[in-house]
Amino acid sequence: MKRITIFGATGSIGQNTLDLIGRDRDTYKVVALTGDQNIEKLARDAISFDAELAVTADPDRLDDLRQALSGSAVEAAAGPEALIEAASRPADWLMSSIVGSAGLAPGLKALEQGTSLALANKESMVCAGSLMLSTAKAHGASILPVDSEHSAVFQALIGEDMGAVERVIITASGGAFRDWPIEDLANATPEQAATHPNWDMGQRITIDSASMFNKALELIETREFFEIEPSQIEAVVHPESMIHALVGFRDGALMAHVGPPDMRHAIGFALHYPERKSLPVERLDLVKLGQMTFRPADETRWPALRLAREVMEAGGLSGAVFNAAKERALDGFIEKRIGFQQIAPVVEEVLSRVSANRGHIDAAITLDNVIYIDHLARIRADEIMTEIKG
Ligand code: NDP
Ligand code: MG
Repeated sequence: MKRITIFGATGSIGQNTLDLIGRDRDTYKVVALTGDQNIEKLARDAISFDAELAVTADPDRLDDLRQALSGSAVEAAAGPEALIEAASRPADWLMSSIVGSAGLAPGLKALEQGTSLALANKESMVCAGSLMLSTAKAHGASILPVDSEHSAVFQALIGEDMGAVERVIITASGGAFRDWPIEDLANATPEQAATHPNWDMGQRITIDSASMFNKALELIETREFFEIEPSQIEAVVHPESMIHALVGFRDGALMAHVGPPDMRHAIGFALHYPERKSLPVERLDLVKLGQMTFRPADETRWPALRLAREVMEAGGLSGAVFNAAKERALDGFIEKRIGFQQIAPVVEEVLSRVSANRGHIDAAITLDNVIYIDHLARIRADEIMTEIKG
């Protein structure tokens, strides 16, 4: 039996992972499931999958979780230390699908145990890519990308020599506002931004798709994961979301990964790797699709993409600053403290203030330094949002 743990089990990626595992229950033993506020869902799935342990990240919800699990054999735990303990329990495969930089520490702990890490939590690579890779290497663990673009690149690279790679192109749907006139964006609401034209995802990543911050994170994730130069990485808007990424080789060949937008493909690929097993995803009918279109990823319309380039050039801990600033600015937008068009300026200003002390960015990429700089960037973001409001 393959021992499985899912971090962020109550979210969109977590539920898709459980959907796949639930189709083949005799093959898998669920070790731990974790969530945050969705206690009923966490308890329901932990009981139904006969998990050893259920953990909520929120220490104040422990009693609720205990109550929801009463009468079952599932152990309950809560809080950040309990998440780390869950990550250290022996497992063969762990899905990292917490949203935000909160996913970094448990992912690192799993790698330290030599566990195969299926990585949906792109923030881990953005904040501490080199630490993730070196930890995996030191403990003989593998990291399997679950972000659809990175899974696509990973698959296009199988059997290839990295030295023959000229460029990597990741696609973006353009999100909820891709056809809106730029002038209207200032009045865009969180509810409008949280409606994705193609993908069914969590609220935060859906809004990040509309602002293109999701693609910005993915550009950085590409650089960190595949260790290629920023100049080799491009983003292109592809409204149909059928091609997820392309890898260009030095002989001019361009290998594309094509399929309907369904995260169960990338999750299933990581679950069965290195085998390819049958997956319950729709097969693409090219004739029915008819055509695929592409547009430039306009850095004026989507300043997040320009900021991502600057972060890739700056290196060091600037990815952690960028991510934390974005997380806080996104909170500000969801809470209606700032407008949609103010998200990028807040992030840019945080980068500028924190980077003014070069020592902050050039410090070693350790978990402690990432936690420190993440905290500092959030404080700066709050200050800036207060100034804007003021
Ligand atoms: P969701 O918002 O749907 O789920 C997030 C999960 O994380 C939930 O289980 C939530 O618990 C839990 N959580 C939230 N905050 C914390 C915290 N502070 N500590 C611990 N757990 C927490 O997100 P998605 O599933 O959409 O995304 C998860 C990750 O995967 C993100 O990094 C995202 O960028 C990435 N990703 C997602 C894709 C998608 O299709 N959804 C595609 C590619 C990447 P609860 O719900 O119980 O509060
Ligand atoms: Mg993606």
